Amino acid sequence: MEEVQTFVTHLECGLTGERFEPDRVHGLSSAGRPLLVHYDLDAIRDGVSQPDLIGRPPELWRYREFLPVRRKANIVSLGETMTPLLPVPKLQTGAGPLMVKDEGRLPTGSFKSRGLCMAVSMAKELGITRIAMPTNGNAGAALAAYATRAGIQSFVFCPEDTPEVNVREIAAQGARVWRVNGLINDCGKIVADGKQAVGWFDLSTLKEPYRIEGKKTMGLELAEQMQWKLPDVIMYPTGGGTGLIGMWKAFQELQAIGWIHGRLPRMIAVQATGCAPIVRAYEAGERHAELWTNAHTVATGIRVPAAVGDFLILQAVRDSNGFAVAVDDDAIMAAHRTCAQQEGVLLCPEGAATLAAYQQAVAAGRISSDESVVLFNCATGLKYPLPAVSQTLDRHQPIDYQQFRTE
Ligand SMILES: *Cc1c(COP(=O)(O)O)cnc(C)c1O
Repeated sequence: MEEVQTFVTHLECGLTGERFEPDRVHGLSSAGRPLLVHYDLDAIRDGVSQPDLIGRPPELWRYREFLPVRRKANIVSLGETMTPLLPVPKLQTGAGPLMVKDEGRLPTGSFKSRGLCMAVSMAKELGITRIAMPTNGNAGAALAAYATRAGIQSFVFCPEDTPEVNVREIAAQGARVWRVNGLINDCGKIVADGKQAVGWFDLSTLKEPYRIEGKKTMGLELAEQMQWKLPDVIMYPTGGGTGLIGMWKAFQELQAIGWIHGRLPRMIAVQATGCAPIVRAYEAGERHAELWTNAHTVATGIRVPAAVGDFLILQAVRDSNGFAVAVDDDAIMAAHRTCAQQEGVLLCPEGAATLAAYQQAVAAGRISSDESVVLFNCATGLKYPLPAVSQTLDRHQPIDYQQFRTE
């Protein structure tokens, strides 16, 4: 079997630094916190160069030296294509370019596929045969697809108001799925409690080490797309924070091997006012975030009342001189409309939250008009309910063509 070159040395608790061996099944650290994968960065530096990447397929496995999968045969893929960086000049407020990284092009229509292709590939490598997960929709859909492709059983638990399309997609792609009368953290408890009883592996956000490594490719890809010069500001719709933590990790690794230089982007964690535990902790100067009660927002992907990696999100935000900010549902839906109608880019509500936050942050002077900004749109807008259209034409009646002129 062909080996993939990988340079994993060990895993470390993100909070305490406690070390764990690679090539073993791991969940959380003994402190109950996420594990981070560490690499021999000197070996990566010697093992791959920027020009080496040019001839590789335009997918996330082009960064294989930065990834944990050891054997190529264990890669579970549905075609994790590189995603476009779209300029949206009509929405830009000053001289600094505004761009949308459109992650809706990925398999299962969301960037959850980046994390799940990695976690499921590692599960396959480690011989795991049953996986369970709580989800607000997109993660469950990605798990279902990749687990089915890998021949692994999957069990998925969603809040009862999860959009119909997500629940159906999860079932259609071969997972067993249940609606639960609670929120994602309540679903998470069912998964955790079932570990003993059913013997499934808990693939909750950040409760296993490899989803971060998959999400890290957003940072690697963004750097490569921008010719290894990162934007001034990254605005990220933050739920469990995997992507924000992953990108920040990518930037540290790229800096360590000398592929990027200078100041790193300011990382802005965007949440909804109806569920903003990270923003509250950021503003209070806390290291950890407290559980948010009565969480609600149209942006269900960021409706996460408690994040086990809260301190890693807050650390990246603070170390990068960024901030955490919340926007309300009206601003989210207004931004959603504006972007679709002015730029032809149909964001998901979570992506629209980053646009709303950009508009408010520029107005408040928290982002200066000459800074370059990248917004993350993490799913296709087509997975969400859209505003109804009621106009009809009766082809048997004379048609008043004047109406089309005045429109
Ligand atoms: C999961 C999700 C998010 C939040 O991602 P995290 O990295 O877990 O914070 C944002 N937007 C969409 C569409 C999602 O599905």
